[in-house]
Amino acid sequence: MRGSSPRTTGKIRRKASYICQMRPQDILIPAPAGLCCKPGGFHIDPVRPVERAVITHGHSDHARPGHGAVLATQETLDMMRLRYGDNFASTTQAVRYGEEIALGEVKIKFHPAGHVLGSAQIAVTCKDTCIVASGDYKDAIDPTCTPFEVVPCDVFITEATFGLPVFRHGDAADEVKKLLASVALFPERAHLVGAYSLGKAQRVIALLREQGYDAPIYLHGAMEAITRYYESRGIALGELRAAQGVKKADLAGTITLAPPSATSDIWTRRFPDPVTAFASGWMRVRARARQRGVELPLVVSDHADWDGLTATIAATGAGEVWVTHGQEDALVHWCKTRGLAARPLDLVGYGDEGESEVVAADEAEA
Ligand SMILES: [Zn+2]
Ligand SMILES: [Zn+2]
Repeated sequence: MRGSSPRTTGKIRRKASYICQMRPQDILIPAPAGLCCKPGGFHIDPVRPVERAVITHGHSDHARPGHGAVLATQETLDMMRLRYGDNFASTTQAVRYGEEIALGEVKIKFHPAGHVLGSAQIAVTCKDTCIVASGDYKDAIDPTCTPFEVVPCDVFITEATFGLPVFRHGDAADEVKKLLASVALFPERAHLVGAYSLGKAQRVIALLREQGYDAPIYLHGAMEAITRYYESRGIALGELRAAQGVKKADLAGTITLAPPSATSDIWTRRFPDPVTAFASGWMRVRARARQRGVELPLVVSDHADWDGLTATIAATGAGEVWVTHGQEDALVHWCKTRGLAARPLDLVGYGDEGESEVVAADEAEA
């Protein structure tokens, strides 16, 4: 709740104009726990336990346990339950895309973010001002989640994981064709594809199926539950098998998806002469692929690339842009050259589980 007391009758006009021109920073403001909406009484993707959390998607840097009330899509709530157990929050409320909810003095609405299954942008409207917190997003096509939707707004909060002009992801289908060409070329070798277990792995599987690959695909144990969850939500992934317990010789010529860390440890000894691949936007940078010992880099990202970020910012029509987690500087500069007000948000605690260099919680689970 805002702390201001009711104005006197003589000041009604002034009050009315003040309300219409509410400053964006009075609606959402960076706080130690995360992006805070004081007039709505909630935080978005808080990194510390809060009373009421609105959560954009299930990656562990955005969806953390221990909050009082959690509002998120059904899929995000289910993913949190899978990862943290039934008591991950005191209460939960599933929100559908397009559904409007009043919280305190604001209204919120969820829109698809195209990042992973259930990912949402949160539009926060207070009086006449609309701010969209997009969480993580991508505008590229992904058969495993609802496509990204452009939401017109006054202020757009964008991630900047790949916020440099050097990052152009290209067509993910072409990357998967590279993988299939390698499988055809080395039928005696196993192919081990490092991919984060929430989102990336299922997208790679779906892309393989789109290319007509119908052989069984093998899974590392750490990604079985989440992959089965995707299937339970109607995402067709073809025949999947656990890699665990399969004879080494039988894995020749097959494809196995595993968390990135598993592709460089002793776990790989069960595979015959494995070709190590890694599906990530970072694979555009050859040095990173070499550093990780990746033989077959696949540029497949769940984040918008430079063109996607800039096209999206322009499409929202926002006059002001707040840039968070990633490479903020270039994007802030780009906005300013286009006459947009822009600033980095300096939120801490988000290194994307899916793409960052930081060892992800998800890898630790493996
Ligand atoms: Zn994410
Ligand atoms: Zn993120």
